[in-house]
Amino acid sequence: MVSCLLLKGGASASMSRALSSLLVALLVALASPLTVRAGEGPYLFVGNERLRPLIYSQDGEPAGLVVQITRAMAEAAGLDIEIRVLDWARAQEMMQRGEADALLQINWTEERDGLYDFSVPLLDSNFTIFRRIERVDINGRRSLQGKTVGVETKGLPCTVLREDPGVLLRPVASWREGFEGVRSGVIDAVVVDRWIGEYELYRAGFNDIVPVSSPVAVSCSSIAVRKGNRELLDRINEGLTAIQADGTRERILSEWSGKRIVYLPEEKMKAYYVIGGLALVNVILLVVAIVYACLLMKTKKEAERLASTDGLTGLFNYRSFYAAAERELAIAGRHGWPLSIVQIDIDSFKEINDAWGHLFGDTVLVAVADAIRRSVRSTDICARMGGDEFTLLLPETAADEARIVAERVRSAVAALKMRASTDVVSLSVSIGVTTRTGGGSDLEGLIREADDALYEAKRRGRNLVDVYGACPNAKDPS
Ligand code: GH3
Ligand code: MG
Repeated sequence: MVSCLLLKGGASASMSRALSSLLVALLVALASPLTVRAGEGPYLFVGNERLRPLIYSQDGEPAGLVVQITRAMAEAAGLDIEIRVLDWARAQEMMQRGEADALLQINWTEERDGLYDFSVPLLDSNFTIFRRIERVDINGRRSLQGKTVGVETKGLPCTVLREDPGVLLRPVASWREGFEGVRSGVIDAVVVDRWIGEYELYRAGFNDIVPVSSPVAVSCSSIAVRKGNRELLDRINEGLTAIQADGTRERILSEWSGKRIVYLPEEKMKAYYVIGGLALVNVILLVVAIVYACLLMKTKKEAERLASTDGLTGLFNYRSFYAAAERELAIAGRHGWPLSIVQIDIDSFKEINDAWGHLFGDTVLVAVADAIRRSVRSTDICARMGGDEFTLLLPETAADEARIVAERVRSAVAALKMRASTDVVSLSVSIGVTTRTGGGSDLEGLIREADDALYEAKRRGRNLVDVYGACPNAKDPS
């Protein structure tokens, strides 16, 4: 139809040639989508699908921090764009084949410089080593020599680390797979942008992998266009500058920084471990110390008890009697209270030993001790002073009461019927009593007086109570 019009118009040959070439150009332009894109049509921006939280696919739609910045940039620059997220190697291939117009979140390298033109900075990138928490030998780029390191094919860490011949690079299909490899020990470390590594670790819940503080490489990511596509690059730069100037970029960054994982720096983590460990050790030491102190106290008490009691009868021994008696004497002296000392000695005990044996003699000592204990108050002090001799201290007890107590003891012992094989053995004790009221008395003197009274009771025939200083009739009511 076009050629028909040309023929009917009868225009000159040169004019019709110019018109037809114009029409051909118009038809070609309408038929080719690339030509439309170069003008006002949708530009295709492609990004790495594995850059969560920067670029990823959410319910089939591109999402992430970089995607949001790119959309804001496009709006500011009046660019009609379409964003697609896919495999990073595939995205770069698309660019080289002319199937896409721009690459999102790409870092400058010399190699890439020959292929692309780069926009003004888009985002800071810290390419960081992630290693198991206990692998403290991995602490920087140099330490990766001889180590197997997981990287993304065609990623910047791969390009950078390829310069270190000792580093064994292992491509990882996904960051999760890479981190699992680190955990299982298949690989020693993973090198990835800190944003991405931390986000993946957070999602996976791996808290035994940590970032190394000094990054392997620091870079600024950009949006890249095909080499020489100045027109698109200018529009991108215009948009990026505009969103930087009006605060849109900052607003987006701060929105996303809320979603970023707060990671404890390695040193802090170590410090927390050390503090935690020390606290645990302290608690254990404290528990051990408390248990030890309790045992020590118990042992000490037992030792004290053993040291202060007579092993056979359980009564106070000589030493503890003296200590307790001195205390009671002081109290009585201070208050002017009466106090009595009672000396008890088993009658003819030697004969009992001789007749029925030493062991039987021991049971007699125990029986007499029990009879004494039963006959006195709990506040009275009962002691076995040695052999068949017992001493009582009766606080707040005057002579008359003391005599009654002594009599009670004497009758209790006299009532004992001890069996030695077929024989029934009768026992008796002789008792001397002395009393003092008020202060100024010495214990030795009191015991001497009670001994004298005891001697007197023995002398008068045994099985008697004698009160020191009392007339003989009063001494023995029986
Ligand atoms: P007296 O009526 O004059 O007191 O006569 P006695 O035989 O009791 O004489 P004495 O009090 O001097 O005797 C004490 C005896 O007690 C001598 C000793 O063999 C005995 N003896 C001392 N300690 C123990 C002991 O632990 N067990 C036994 N079975 N006998 C002991
Ligand atoms: Mg005796």
